[in-house]
Amino acid sequence: MTETEELREWDRRYFWHPFTQMQCYGDDDPWIIERAEGNYVYDTEGHRCLDAIASLWCNIHGHRHPRLDAALIAQIGKVAHSTALGASNPPAIHLAKALVEITPASLQHCFFSEDGSEAVEVAIKMAAQYWCNLGRPEKHLFLTLDNAYHGDTVGAVSVGGFPLFHAVYGHLLFPTLRLPSPYVLQWEDCEGDPLQATAAWLATLESTLQDQGGEIAALILEGGVQGAAGILPFPPGILAGAQRLCRAYEVLLIIDEVATGFGRSGKLFSCEWESVEPDLLALGKGLSGGYLPLAATLAAEHVYAVFLAPFGETRQFYYGHTYT
Ligand SMILES: *Cc1c(COP(=O)(O)O)cnc(C)c1O
Repeated sequence: MTETEELREWDRRYFWHPFTQMQCYGDDDPWIIERAEGNYVYDTEGHRCLDAIASLWCNIHGHRHPRLDAALIAQIGKVAHSTALGASNPPAIHLAKALVEITPASLQHCFFSEDGSEAVEVAIKMAAQYWCNLGRPEKHLFLTLDNAYHGDTVGAVSVGGFPLFHAVYGHLLFPTLRLPSPYVLQWEDCEGDPLQATAAWLATLESTLQDQGGEIAALILEGGVQGAAGILPFPPGILAGAQRLCRAYEVLLIIDEVATGFGRSGKLFSCEWESVEPDLLALGKGLSGGYLPLAATLAAEHVYAVFLAPFGETRQFYYGHTYT
């Protein structure tokens, strides 16, 4: 048995892979990636493969980038991990400041987590607690889109719109209000006309807000394109129109730029295309260039402010994992 054959055997036997039917896994000898360079990955037998999925949309500067490698090596000589609960560290402080500076101007505070799903969970909990802290707990519903993808944890699946996930895990999910996908509306009901689709979608949003705005905590949208659903772009005006209506009806706007952030839409953040300034922004994937599981939720000043209170008033954000 070669080393690779042995690895294949152990891989099949011990390693339960994500989103994978393990009964078939291994039938076609999957790649066992051992190293990488630039845009290419190499398997244990030396085969070279273009990493065209950017290691699942997150490797945005190439593998083994000299500056990123050097930063990691320098840091490991100091400390690998220290908690952010009641303490801090220089890289996290610099990164929080940098993210506030490069994201839309509304966003003034940065909360870290480990992956995109968690950045969304954090945004959901911040939005829910925001209204509780303001004494309006009846604003508890989330407004979401058909075909939306916001991650795989229970909260993130709740605000998602993939029928398959809802069929399997529906009994675990919290209820949401769902709007049509702007892309589907454009191509199924509006003969592809983008202006007509945007107008129709915004009219649906406005009537929902008119009827139920008093119970809605937030609207959550991906950054101008429904990524996991198949790269379904929104017609122009959806994000800006959503922001205008959310402000008018006192509903928070959460933009999930886990996929579109860090240049993926041609601007650093896709919000910039329509000068959108969300109340909460979820970032992940490209944030660490594919080097570390890292995500962030950016919050507007008015959101952050309602969590402030003298010690003991239990208004702080009750959230944080070991590696947060
Ligand atoms: C990938 C993705 C997520 C989930 O991020 P994970 O790091 O996989 O948890 C959330 N939202 C969007 C838009 C994504 O593309």
